[in-house]
Amino acid sequence: MSLAPLIIVSGPSASGKSTIVRRLLEGPWPLRLSVSVTTRPPRINEQPGVHYHFWSVPEFLHAKDQGFFLEWAEVHGNYYGTLDNEVTQYRHLGQGVVLDIDVQGAEQVRKRCPDAVSIFIRTSRFETLEERLRQRHTESEDAIQKRLTNARAELARAGEYNYQVVNDDLESALASLRAILGPLFQRSADA
Ligand code: ADP
Ligand code: 5GP
Repeated sequence: MSLAPLIIVSGPSASGKSTIVRRLLEGPWPLRLSVSVTTRPPRINEQPGVHYHFWSVPEFLHAKDQGFFLEWAEVHGNYYGTLDNEVTQYRHLGQGVVLDIDVQGAEQVRKRCPDAVSIFIRTSRFETLEERLRQRHTESEDAIQKRLTNARAELARAGEYNYQVVNDDLESALASLRAILGPLFQRSADA
């Protein structure tokens, strides 16, 4: 039996990755979000084990040295990583897994899991990212500037992805994503 789909979602901060992934998890496919580890502090309303596993830097480095991560990277000045046990066992059980990870992590996952399908979420205007970051009220001015600088570097690597989806209008973006995901789940169910 082939493994259930592995879907990588990347894109600049505030392009709408979490919003889109949350909607995709509502169905109709057997899909779970891999809960990443991060060393950044939780935002208001973020729950440990739900949005992230919030670990200290020593805890993160220990897990890295033990080889527990499928991929890891330093992003916006903090460590982030995908635990292998958030991914592989579920794919074997027929459950698709979506990774919301940055461009560096995506590169590592493509190498280790060549069947992964990668999707880059973007907006048609760069300014939209700044507007959304400010409206979200989750980052300091310093963090906003860091994220906007990184956004340009991430956008420069959009061509490395299998698909690019523009999230100006949420429902149109979701329709595009569903058109990509549908055949993947169909194929894995037929195999
Ligand atoms: P990311 O996970 O990529 O950092 P979020 O999903 O947190 O981005 O989205 C950033 C902000 O933009 C949030 O406040 C979200 O509600 C909003 N947002 C997401 N998609 C859209 C859209 N298509 N139109 C308007 N606002 C959006
Ligand atoms: P945020 O702090 O806004 O939740 O996420 C910041 C960035 O880190 C986003 O680009 C997100 O995709 C990325 N990220 C989240 N989890 C992981 C992970 O496990 N690995 C990698 N490489 N990047 C991650």
